[in-house]
Amino acid sequence: MSNSIAIIGAGPGGLATAIRLAGQGYDVEIFEASDRAGGRMRGFKNGPYEFDTGPTILQLPRLYDQLFAESGLNRSDYITFKQLEPFNRVHFWDNTHIDLSSDLKAFKSELAKFRSDLPAAFDLWYAEHDRKNELYYKSYLGSPVRSLLGYLRPREIFKALQFRPWETLYQNFWNFFKDERLVYALSYPAKYLGTHPTISPSVFSLIPYLEFQDGVWHPEGGFRNLASSLARAAKDLGVKIHLNCPVEKVWIENKSVRGLILTNEERFQADGVVVNADFAYAMENLIPECDRGVYTNEKLNKMKFSCSTFMLYLGINRRYEDLPHHQIYLSEHIRRLEKPWLDDSALDEENPSFYVCNPTIIDPSNAPKGHSTLFVLVPIPNTSFNVDWENKQKSYRDFIVKRLSVLGYENLENSIVTENCYTANTWQDDYRVFRGAVFNLSHNWTQLGPFRPPIRSRNTRGLYWIGGAVHPGSGLITILEAARSAAFFIKKDL
Ligand SMILES: Cc1cc2nc3c(=O)[nH]c(=O)nc-3n(C[C@H](O)[C@H](O)[C@H](O)COP(=O)(O)OP(=O)(O)OC[C@H]3O[C@@H](n4cnc5c(N)ncnc54)[C@H](O)[C@@H]3O)c2cc1C
Repeated sequence: MSNSIAIIGAGPGGLATAIRLAGQGYDVEIFEASDRAGGRMRGFKNGPYEFDTGPTILQLPRLYDQLFAESGLNRSDYITFKQLEPFNRVHFWDNTHIDLSSDLKAFKSELAKFRSDLPAAFDLWYAEHDRKNELYYKSYLGSPVRSLLGYLRPREIFKALQFRPWETLYQNFWNFFKDERLVYALSYPAKYLGTHPTISPSVFSLIPYLEFQDGVWHPEGGFRNLASSLARAAKDLGVKIHLNCPVEKVWIENKSVRGLILTNEERFQADGVVVNADFAYAMENLIPECDRGVYTNEKLNKMKFSCSTFMLYLGINRRYEDLPHHQIYLSEHIRRLEKPWLDDSALDEENPSFYVCNPTIIDPSNAPKGHSTLFVLVPIPNTSFNVDWENKQKSYRDFIVKRLSVLGYENLENSIVTENCYTANTWQDDYRVFRGAVFNLSHNWTQLGPFRPPIRSRNTRGLYWIGGAVHPGSGLITILEAARSAAFFIKKDL
């Protein structure tokens, strides 16, 4: 008889792990609190408009090909990806902008408009990252975490030193480009890792490199379609997905997992349990106090969590055909280095940086003819910093709608037909994300590699974690890699 695995949560991490395990012959059942699979990626409908809720940037499509192929399926039977070219437009505080592109020739001509020596500087940066990718991707992102000693072997140290890991992301880009606009354009994704470019470890310069190398993609039908395609693949492999089925507790006896306890007190027996629910939320709510190991409330309070996001999902009665799919506005406030701006503990009510996705130009099916949707994301403090959203939400929404004009969305107010707004409280309460910190535990040295919560529990046999707060980190590429590691551990243990 095959081993049975229960998974708590049908987020991308839970679905990817289920696909891998079912592909290897395990009996897998997923218990999901919401009425839809997909977690932060599940999306929603408002009248005739359809919205993605979380991810909008798909990197490394080969990871999805591998996930399906290694489980005996064909990715293209489930979902199609379109490459975006150029893949992002970044507007700067001085009214200039640059289009980022994986057509490197086109990108270098963009760079030449800024300064004539920049194309050559980019070649040097790219060549360094060819080597960095070769050395780092497999051993850090693409493999299960090792012990601290494993990282301290002379060969590992020699390898790491070549890329000056003590540098920040900002320094890495500054060494090559010496233009703050480019430095911030390429290092801004640090925000999505819960840090700031001037404090984020330089290892993350691999992310923009991977975008230049492999491109940025969009799943046809949006990320909500990616979510339902993953769920469909899991079901085709025999996985049972129970929606509207919140788990109350992980059932643990004598330091070994026995299964799950559901909110109706029913017990579900399993040989292994994978927790895909947000790590810190699950530690507080799903793991019995005596089985939490080092992750007590005191420890969670000391750990650093990412910012949250203020979201506007707008259904509008017009299209912006000439504006790109992805745009970021970088305000000069990104250059402020005082504490509240570095750790996102203050709400920027004057001139925040923000991101807008205009998906209908590539995915017209998400709105009626001539209409479109917009997705607006503004980094904001997580709920530990007590912003009074009940009183602030309306005025902040009005302020952001006006600010959208800096990205070309002029006179938007009169075109809005439907709108949904999320604050840090929405992520916390409706998506069960600890403190609404949507990018999970910050990615700083004290919370990376052997210092990040591991995939395989250190104190409960048969318990595994999958998601952005555990090794190797947040974002879809890391979570897909983590699913491979989770399946590896489960096979080894069971
Ligand atoms: C606004 C935003 C933009 C983002 N942009 C990108 C991007 O462009 N590219 C990218 O790669 N990543 C992006 N991310 C990050 C990405 O969405 C996350 O890394 C990913 O969704 C995390 O997946 P997960 O499976 O770990 O968790 P989740 O997506 O949070 O899924 C966890 C699931 O567990 C369920 N659950 C929780 N508690 C229980 C319970 N008690 N019982 C049963 N089920 C439960 C939840 O309902 C949820 O479905 C973005 C995130 C946000 C919020």
